[in-house]
Amino acid sequence: MMIKKKRIKFFHIKILILVFTMIIVGVGGYVYTARQFNVIATFNPVARSVGSRMVDYRTRNYSFVETDHFIIKYDEGISKEILDLAKTTAEDKYKEVVQVFQYAPKNKVMMILYNDAEKLKRNTMLSGSDKPPMGVYYGDTIHILDPTLWIKDEENIENIFYSEGPILHELVHLLTDHVARGNFPLWFTEGVSLYFEYKIDGYEWGRGMDVDTDQYNLGNLTNNFHELDQYFAYTQSFRIIKDFVDQHGIEALMDLLRDLGKGQDFKTYNDLFKGEG
Ligand SMILES: [Zn+2]
Repeated sequence: MMIKKKRIKFFHIKILILVFTMIIVGVGGYVYTARQFNVIATFNPVARSVGSRMVDYRTRNYSFVETDHFIIKYDEGISKEILDLAKTTAEDKYKEVVQVFQYAPKNKVMMILYNDAEKLKRNTMLSGSDKPPMGVYYGDTIHILDPTLWIKDEENIENIFYSEGPILHELVHLLTDHVARGNFPLWFTEGVSLYFEYKIDGYEWGRGMDVDTDQYNLGNLTNNFHELDQYFAYTQSFRIIKDFVDQHGIEALMDLLRDLGKGQDFKTYNDLFKGEG
């Protein structure tokens, strides 16, 4: 008994040391703001796996339900109605995106619903007094904040969450990360997620907004994404991906993801991403 206990303890200490090391060396951490939320996402296979273990550990006491393609953990404040809404939304969006990606994760996707915004922030390594995010992709897990906390139009919570909510966006981050193995700049994965919101939910980010394409050029998006105005940076990222798909088709985008996953250098595609259309 004692030995077993000790092993478990050391295992957790090892994970913690690994996590702290990665924080200190700053492996693939990005902070950004979108709509009314801030989000951290880590797109790096090693960091993804470490983050995933940390999230599992921190939510080990949460209740959970399983659907065909998800394990959904939830904290105490989540109502049955919200849990059911999340189940339906997740399964519906999953079917649509998996069909386009022609890829389905080997394991069920982990999703966590939080009524406690501070817990969401802590589990996704967000710090400070930033406004809590409504969704985060971190540690191979989709983290979702209870929509009753951020949708003011109470009568339309179901509709808004289903057709404009964060599950689709974060799920596309997860699939992009799996297929392309984190081998892309941040603007690219944001553009792909926003493109799917446009394609599946009909939600167009930055619609009608004028963007200074000299300032929001590919070099700046690639190297200074989190220093740019997030609204314009997201808008231009979306438009670059949309232009690519308009010209080459969605299959070409999926081929590109698979090539990135095989280690193709992202820079070789730079000529294809102009976003001037
Ligand atoms: Zn995103």
